[in-house]
Amino acid sequence: MFSEELEKISWDETTQKIYSKTDRDVRRALAKEHCNVDDFMALLSPAAAPYLEEMAALSRHYTEERFGKTISLFIPLYLTNSCTNSCVYCGFHISNPMARTILTPEQMEEEYKAIKALGPFENLLLVTGENPAKAGVPYLAKALDIAKKYFDNLKIEVMPLKAEEYAELKEHGMNGVICFQETYHKERYKVYHPRGMKSNFEWRVNGFDRMGQAGVHSIGMGVLIGLEEWRTDVVMMAYHLRYLQKKYWRTKYSVNFPRMRPAENGGFQPNVIMSDKELAQATFAMRIFDHDVDISYSTREPPFIRDNMATLGVTTMSAESKTEPGGYHTYPQALEQFHVSDERTAVEMFHRLRELGREPVWKDWDASFDLFRKHE
Ligand code: SF4
Repeated sequence: MFSEELEKISWDETTQKIYSKTDRDVRRALAKEHCNVDDFMALLSPAAAPYLEEMAALSRHYTEERFGKTISLFIPLYLTNSCTNSCVYCGFHISNPMARTILTPEQMEEEYKAIKALGPFENLLLVTGENPAKAGVPYLAKALDIAKKYFDNLKIEVMPLKAEEYAELKEHGMNGVICFQETYHKERYKVYHPRGMKSNFEWRVNGFDRMGQAGVHSIGMGVLIGLEEWRTDVVMMAYHLRYLQKKYWRTKYSVNFPRMRPAENGGFQPNVIMSDKELAQATFAMRIFDHDVDISYSTREPPFIRDNMATLGVTTMSAESKTEPGGYHTYPQALEQFHVSDERTAVEMFHRLRELGREPVWKDWDASFDLFRKHE
């Protein structure tokens, strides 16, 4: 399990290593076709800042070599904001006396239809808070059963589950799982997640192993930028990615590093700020480090950043997202989990990507592939 590997990696020493990288280390990493985590540290370090243009060119090259010019479009649907956790940075935390919603099967269906009216989306991400009693595996299975009538590629972003539960949801059409570790700083993790199941660091970080054991086709991982030293967190995610790739080599991986915005959701202030240039550096570094990983940007990022990065390394984007449950049809005015910065419609996004010379893709998975996989 990755928690055992993580015990061997010191947070402080990793931070120190990143900040001691030199110009020479950066040039060595740039000259390599296959970088290791140590090279990745150099590319992420302040010493690489003068090489941003060179990194952008390399990132574009590797991205186009592997993905062509495609950008896969997806849309999230929040099924519920009911949550038993108390993440200090989230407006859905248990102590917030807000109205809670759990979409009924009828409401889900209305939401799916409303999404289809926005654009021919086939990639749907179902999102929940953590309330296994009210929105657990049977509830998710139902949501998937209904969704598969409308969408080909179904992913979930929900509480970490047991391996057998992931396997069960695969039977209901689930093709991928996204989970945010938020931060790999084990001690500080407890400060941000003081109560509920999410306070168990090991359960969360080892959830990725359980996804791998269940043979989940696509695993998305992420850290929330704004909690701890971002460079160290992104490096820890790179260690985790390499570990998973080695162990569960048939799985496809994606990474996310969304930036928390100041004072979103009830006033939690980010502890660290990642500038636009640093976001670009992290994206390029990730692509140079891993030519195959999907790099995903959500609508948390503003249009000008998304447009720029769409040609330089990003391969997956959400569009026209609502971050409140039932936000497309049932409860369009409810409290959002976070405010979106890119408010363009899916169709506007599609045309903008075309203008930028990209090929926006609504569908990159066919439900019938699941049948082939079952018989492999
Ligand atoms: S971040 Fe997720 S788990 Fe934490 S309080 Fe918000 S909805 Fe619940």
